[in-house]
Amino acid sequence: MKNIGILTSGGDSPGMNAAIRAVVRTGVYHDMDIFGIRRGYQGMIEGDIFKMQTTDVANIIQRGGTILKTARSKEFMTDEGRRKAYDQLTKHNIEGLVLIGGDGTFRGAVAFFEQFTIPAVGIPGTIDKDLAGTDFTIGFDTAVNTAVEAIDKIRDTAEAHDRLFVVEVMGRDAGYIALNSGIACGAEDILIPEQITDIEDVLNRIDNDERRKKTVHIIIVAEGDDYGGAKEVQARITERFPMLDVRTCVLGHIQRGGSPSYADRVLASRLGYAAVNALRAGNTQVMAGIVNDNIFFTPFDNVIKGEAPINPDMLELIRVLSI
Ligand code: ATP
Repeated sequence: MKNIGILTSGGDSPGMNAAIRAVVRTGVYHDMDIFGIRRGYQGMIEGDIFKMQTTDVANIIQRGGTILKTARSKEFMTDEGRRKAYDQLTKHNIEGLVLIGGDGTFRGAVAFFEQFTIPAVGIPGTIDKDLAGTDFTIGFDTAVNTAVEAIDKIRDTAEAHDRLFVVEVMGRDAGYIALNSGIACGAEDILIPEQITDIEDVLNRIDNDERRKKTVHIIIVAEGDDYGGAKEVQARITERFPMLDVRTCVLGHIQRGGSPSYADRVLASRLGYAAVNALRAGNTQVMAGIVNDNIFFTPFDNVIKGEAPINPDMLELIRVLSI
């Protein structure tokens, strides 16, 4: 294989640039031509494709976002859209793809391969860490660090005013950011989509803390929690304890940005290098992940059908440490 294309797709995550750099440099090292495809599958359909040099990826390892930009493409979900994308790949003699994204991106790869048999290797790039087949995804560590820094600051002001804070972090379907940032910040409660929220239980714990004169109470809620987001939780608390000063903070998109942590840069570099070598070896329609600190390949089908369940020990840990 001589010519490969690379794209970033779905939500951006810090460390995608480090992965792009690793793919380009590994490819060039092996005398391959690497084609950058801008704006994910939509850019592929529109032929927004350019040949990348090693200098294109200089000075990007420390930058958040993605120099290739990213997009969500409805058109790629149609046979006609994928046909246009394939025609563009043929025009540029692109024989294989490296796809950096989440499960939607790999669903797209499966649909594409069923129609056109184009070899592809995936790299998990999502802050949510909600993919089977890997212990970590690129961007997760940075996103949690960003949340931790913000929650620590909120704790300072919460303590100064004896306030109760409900902090909403990202995670539509997965509670990993909430769970890890909550444990790291000593949160009193952590509400995640993987576990049904018993709001009475949450209220009783606030009641107990009030009786014990525990002045700071921080609740972390993942945006996809079944009870709702920070506003819904705040409303219920205020209804039960009208005398309490309850504030909310939605951290939002700051969790996606920023310079990637060392862990995300190293992970991205390892996975980018592994993805190119997998393509060269003909090990395709797989996602390159990391399991027990070793590179591990999982077929796309298993990634998209699989789950990344929360370790029950972590849930028990919250209970014990928040007394
Ligand atoms: P994140 O986890 O950050 O949301 P993602 O890769 O899951 O990232 P999606 O928007 O779900 O993000 O998927 C990226 C793109 O993949 C979609 O915009 C669409 O173009 C393509 N895609 C997703 N599912 C399919 C599918 N079933 N068939 C074809 N293409 C798909």
